[in-house]
Amino acid sequence: MRKCPFCAEEIQDGAIKCRWCNEFFVEKPAVQAKWYNKTTTILAGFLVLGPFVLPLVWTNPRYSQQKKIIVSALIIAATILMVYATGAMMKQMQDQYKMLF
Ligand SMILES: [Zn+2]
Repeated sequence: MRKCPFCAEEIQDGAIKCRWCNEFFVEKPAVQAKWYNKTTTILAGFLVLGPFVLPLVWTNPRYSQQKKIIVSALIIAATILMVYATGAMMKQMQDQYKMLF
């Protein structure tokens, strides 16, 4: 025997419905992760699409509001870093080009 989490009456261990308050104990099936909601997919998508992967993060039902904000901030930070690194690399290449000629 165990206690009903809703009315605290004694119920059978295998019960799926409380005979006292008629509440059901069946847990909702976990939201099946779609391929585009997987963190690895988002990570791979970011490497290919960059910041264009952000909508996937925002529409992901598996992410909490907090996680969405953190992941978005990380993506934006990484994007800025990548743009900066690309710019620095271009400048370096230009400098080398100038030195050659
Ligand atoms: Zn109950």
